[in-house]
Amino acid sequence: MASSSSAVQAEAFPDGTTEFVPLRGKKYDLRKPHITDQPITVNNWYQHVNWLNTTFIIFIPMLGVVASYWVPMQLKTVIFSIAYYYYAGLGITAGYHRLWAHTSYKATTPLKIFLAAAGAAAVEGSARWWSRDHRAHHRYTDTEKDPYSVRKGLLYSHIGWMVMKQNPRRIGRTDITDLNEDPVVVWQHRHYLKSVIAMALVVPTLFCGLMWGDFLGGFIYGGILRIFFIQQATFCVNSLAHWLGDQPFDDRNSPRDHVITAFVTLGEGYHNFHHEFPSDFRNAIEWWQYDPTKWFIWICKQVGLAYDLKKFPHNEIEKGRLQQIQKKLDQKRATLDWGIPLENLPVVSWDDFVSESKNGKALVAVAGVIHDVTNFISEHPGGKALISAAVGKDATAIFNGGVYLHSNAAHNLLSTMRVGVLRGGCEVEIWKRAQSENKDVASINDSTGKRIVRAGDQVTRVSQPVATADAA
Ligand SMILES: [Zn+2]
Ligand SMILES: [Zn+2]
Repeated sequence: MASSSSAVQAEAFPDGTTEFVPLRGKKYDLRKPHITDQPITVNNWYQHVNWLNTTFIIFIPMLGVVASYWVPMQLKTVIFSIAYYYYAGLGITAGYHRLWAHTSYKATTPLKIFLAAAGAAAVEGSARWWSRDHRAHHRYTDTEKDPYSVRKGLLYSHIGWMVMKQNPRRIGRTDITDLNEDPVVVWQHRHYLKSVIAMALVVPTLFCGLMWGDFLGGFIYGGILRIFFIQQATFCVNSLAHWLGDQPFDDRNSPRDHVITAFVTLGEGYHNFHHEFPSDFRNAIEWWQYDPTKWFIWICKQVGLAYDLKKFPHNEIEKGRLQQIQKKLDQKRATLDWGIPLENLPVVSWDDFVSESKNGKALVAVAGVIHDVTNFISEHPGGKALISAAVGKDATAIFNGGVYLHSNAAHNLLSTMRVGVLRGGCEVEIWKRAQSENKDVASINDSTGKRIVRAGDQVTRVSQPVATADAA
């Protein structure tokens, strides 16, 4: 076991991170080949399994389930187990996650000890180890360097990454110098096994035993089965929170928001928000959303145990939300037919337009754009006669109020029928007018490169309605 604190710091890499140094047990040799370099076969599968983790998270809970058959459930013990479940859960969410992995607030030493002890009661590794992996998870989300990438499957992100051995060289490096300087973290890491036995098993056994004589119930329900439930619940932050729900802030990566995940994980279910704003002490930003971890930290602040609670500015949060809405709009816009872009249309002379109109094609010019309405004549809501009268003519005025002030929907529909742009005056006019009326909105493109056409900005629309001479 390493004894001097200088051993805690390892050689720094150019990006400022250091290699993770286990403070207890043998140092692994990074140069030696790792079992994960070999494919899993019938002969070597057992070497791929992390038997220590498997024992703790699968075998012992199974034994607990079997043993519970002979151990009667006492109400007091059940109530204690649920309360102790929440305590251990807060150790992971308020302690390991929001305090140590993300430093989203500062804690006084008594609160740190309270949380480090609670974290040990959850049996999910030391705060130092957990935070190292979690920082890698945020830095390399969904990539090969993410220790619990959901891209490798829901089951892998939930439990597979612990049951199977992981190549320490694969996990992305992170900076944990701040944790190495935290005496509570270093102490808990060095004395992890003792801490686990004391907090996860001895305390519940003794409490239930000394208070109401239920030693065995305290051990099975308050200890083993409670550990199982808290592990499965908090593992959901790595699996369910990357798989179920909405992505209101960014959809490039897998994190998602869902109230079910929040209920299971003491409020860690607003994971899309969390990955966007990881140093915010909140996961849920609305008062009505379920985030007991946030409430716990807030109460700690009120009683002087926590301070410097970090919040991202509301303005930045709303920017992210708006951009995501815009992205969704752009995706939706890209699925709609807005007509052939003007710059892709052939330029047609007035004479060609007129002669083609006489040769059976029903072409109508509106604001310098030629539209083929052949298939629309019989469906024209205003009847065949009015639209037929416009064929082969410049219908800009009659379309924009001369005969009928056409609706926004009509301009949209008309744009899907455009087939050409008139050479000369009209065509040039369009661009001139767009510029003089400061309608450069007409040439704003969305993130998918599609031109944004807002209501009232269609090119066929003229801003000053022509007097409705004979329309009345
Ligand atoms: Zn995550
Ligand atoms: Zn996180």
